[in-house]
Amino acid sequence: MQPASIAPDGGPGDPLGDLTAASRQYLKAIWDASEWDRNPVTTKSIAERVGVSPSTASDAVRRLAHKGLVKHEPYGAVALSSRGEAAAAHIIRRMRLIESFLVRELGYGWHEVHDDADTLAHAASDDLIERIDCRLGHPTRDPHGDPIPAADGRVTTPALRPLSTCETGDTGTVARIADSDPAMLEYFGSVGLTLDSGVTVHAKRPFAGTMRISVTGFAEMELGDIAVRSVWLTTADRG
Ligand SMILES: [Zn+2]
Repeated sequence: MQPASIAPDGGPGDPLGDLTAASRQYLKAIWDASEWDRNPVTTKSIAERVGVSPSTASDAVRRLAHKGLVKHEPYGAVALSSRGEAAAAHIIRRMRLIESFLVRELGYGWHEVHDDADTLAHAASDDLIERIDCRLGHPTRDPHGDPIPAADGRVTTPALRPLSTCETGDTGTVARIADSDPAMLEYFGSVGLTLDSGVTVHAKRPFAGTMRISVTGFAEMELGDIAVRSVWLTTADRG
């Protein structure tokens, strides 16, 4: 019998090559930071996402730049190179398919998936990921509305409108909710603010940092600025 061994990540054609868990975490953070926000990604914002100091983040970014995975001008914005993007898409695909699997097949709440999905995404074989994809019918978005990259890395990010840019009287359909805060997701779920629910803006109070909205079938509610900035709507039925 062969002794048990830990196979390296790499292999010809493996977009992850021999990336360490830390490198993967940074690539994922850069992807997440630029996915729904057109502002340039800074090492500071990466540091916040990964939960490290800015200097640790800049060291990591420098290493990734050295490997040709990110482009970084000194004191400037950080962006994924095309190789970095391919690797990040691979990581994101695994993460989002597992999130979808946990919610749809195992009954997890959308606020409960993050930690287990993160652990499983590192451990799952490519074959398991493709079987999950098949089992779920090749979903194109995860439980939070984030697009799932295809196996070849291609991804279409839908054109959505942040709720924060909506005005009084606007209506729309919830299409994406930021998944970074489980407590907020749980709250949203409890008040009916879930994917595909209809939203009407009743009052926007920028001076107070609040917005009064209603979700079809639920009572009106007041949302604070942080909550408002976590919700995106389809733009189709704008106005
Ligand atoms: Zn998600």
